Amino acid sequence: MPSEDKITQYLSYLILNRQIIVKIKEQILQARSIVIVTHTNPDGDAIGSSLGFYHFLLTLIPKRNVKVIIPNEFPAFLKWMPAVDEIMVFPANEEAAITCIHNADLCFCLDFNSLKRTDKLSSYLEASNSFKILIDHHPQPDNNFDLMISSVESSSTCELIYDVIHSMSGVEALNNEIASCLYVGIMTDTGSFSYSCRRPETYLVVAELIRHGINSELIHRKIYDTYSENRMRLLGYCLSERLKVLKDFHTAYIYLTEDDLKHFNHQNGDTEGVVNYALSIEGIVLAVLFTEKEGKIRLSLRSKGEFSVNELARKYFNGGGHKNASGGDSFKSMNDTLTFFESILNDYQNDLIKSIDN
Ligand code: 5GP
Ligand code: MN
Repeated sequence: MPSEDKITQYLSYLILNRQIIVKIKEQILQARSIVIVTHTNPDGDAIGSSLGFYHFLLTLIPKRNVKVIIPNEFPAFLKWMPAVDEIMVFPANEEAAITCIHNADLCFCLDFNSLKRTDKLSSYLEASNSFKILIDHHPQPDNNFDLMISSVESSSTCELIYDVIHSMSGVEALNNEIASCLYVGIMTDTGSFSYSCRRPETYLVVAELIRHGINSELIHRKIYDTYSENRMRLLGYCLSERLKVLKDFHTAYIYLTEDDLKHFNHQNGDTEGVVNYALSIEGIVLAVLFTEKEGKIRLSLRSKGEFSVNELARKYFNGGGHKNASGGDSFKSMNDTLTFFESILNDYQNDLIKSIDN
């Protein structure tokens, strides 16, 4: 838990606590140089919240130096987003990114709960003297931010960014660029409004974004209907050759080796969403995608109902995330990882059975 002397807020409403908003605005107005950073393997919510907030800052402080910096490349299906070319991708712009982080006096940390999640950027962020503001919807945030808006109630960081903009400057501050970016994060983090979207507030936000002229159907097509042929065939291969269903444990998993990825000329983002197919099998409560990448096995975990993949990922795979969507890593071989994973399921069998109907 963060300490009391920092202003924190755990619940999001359409209007956020005035004191926090005033503080954030003061920081923005007095900063000479601002960076926005997000987590490694950035997804729609990470890029959407970063660019959405970037566009907002451009309207609030047009002549100031604002940079979006990300730890690694983002998926091709996000490459149409407004001002995407302005993003500084760390490995390709290492020196410039380090200088920006070093010189920044204000840093927005979006869509992650621990600096560790920024991977190679984390040591530079830790060393920087910037005032760090976290805006995020993951549970259990670290305590080393100067100020945070942290709400697990929110569908996405994009929804929280909407709350911040709305509270700071009113809905009039929205423009088409901001609205398009925020819609991407809300849509992708809710699986097109199929999970994490039970609160009416989410739809009020979406209504406001649509009122600001976004074409929600076109955005959906740009994100979901732009598969390369290789990506589609990789999905087919996952489902026909690499899916294992453990009925007694209400679990299904898919695994992909480095050779599999090579064979399908894998690009960043190509396996996004694959794990959801395993979860969509009737009776399955826990689904995992194991991907062999850069000498380790990356896990992408999903669950239904009360079964917490966050807990499982934290306990066994150096990871974490949300209750129903988490990630983690294994440093064993693929075979040993799968054997280990199957062995720990014994401990969870009762919880998995209980989770079927909730
Ligand atoms: P994905 O499976 O899509 O990579 O990640 C699912 C969710 O878990 C995302 O919200 C992501 O931010 C979070 N997540 C993924 N990997 C990790 C990890 O290694 N550690 C933590 N704490 N969260 C993660
Ligand atoms: Mn998110």
